[in-house]
Amino acid sequence: RLEIKNLRRSYGGRQVVDDVSLQIMPGQVTCLLGPSGCGKSTTLRMIAGVEMQDSGTIHVDGKLICDTVFRVPPERREIGLMFQDFALFPHLSVADNVGFGLKTGTKAEKRNRIEDLLKRVDLLRYIDGYPHQLSGGEQQRVALARALAPQPRIMLMDEPFSGLDNRLRDGIRDETLSILKEEDTAVLLVTHEPDEAMRMADEIALMRDGKIVQQGAPYNVYTRPVDRASVAFFSDAN
Ligand code: ATP
Ligand code: MG
Repeated sequence: RLEIKNLRRSYGGRQVVDDVSLQIMPGQVTCLLGPSGCGKSTTLRMIAGVEMQDSGTIHVDGKLICDTVFRVPPERREIGLMFQDFALFPHLSVADNVGFGLKTGTKAEKRNRIEDLLKRVDLLRYIDGYPHQLSGGEQQRVALARALAPQPRIMLMDEPFSGLDNRLRDGIRDETLSILKEEDTAVLLVTHEPDEAMRMADEIALMRDGKIVQQGAPYNVYTRPVDRASVAFFSDAN
């Protein structure tokens, strides 16, 4: 369970993230949805620990991982990351890419986990291949397997499907969702596309100018916009 409370961040006097609070339960996908520049990626970077907030707290499963004085380093947060441009390591095999974040276990245990994950993204046949031998969609699935390998409690995804063509995207979205649900991961997915949020979210947090302006089930957010700007956002996007 991920809990962020009253997160704020400003750049050069401009409040880019302005008092954002969210709670995400295991097995649940929350979409942070909003127009370009509203502060989505900045929010994610603070949760990942690669950016420091000005104020606010972050808890994982009830444990404080970050406030303004105390800070667990990114690699010890048990948070998985999948970003659009989060490339595979070109010089490592598919197996070594997937196994990269596996710190514990014997060699055989690691190999089992890698095989299991590659089976689930339907790429076991490429286990000894290299990234350049795979298509964009296949690379994305390897990246998903890599992010899942250490069994993170939380998965942060920043427009992870935007590099893919439409035909591939639907399949990978569904596949990704079902694996994340199976692993009971709490997911925060960032997107600026209402369609993607409608398709993937259990809950949508609609963000604008650094603030969450509405939060709820996708259908409710879509059919009951809170103001004119939200109406415009949903209609412009279509
Ligand atoms: P997009 O959908 O385009 O990815 P976003 O919602 O992810 O947008 P952010 O990347 O969080 O937006 O950026 C929010 C605002 O903060 C932008 O106006 C951006 O220019 C500004 N910003 C982000 N990072 C920095 C930084 N390191 N220094 C200064 N300004 C920044
Ligand atoms: Mg962004």
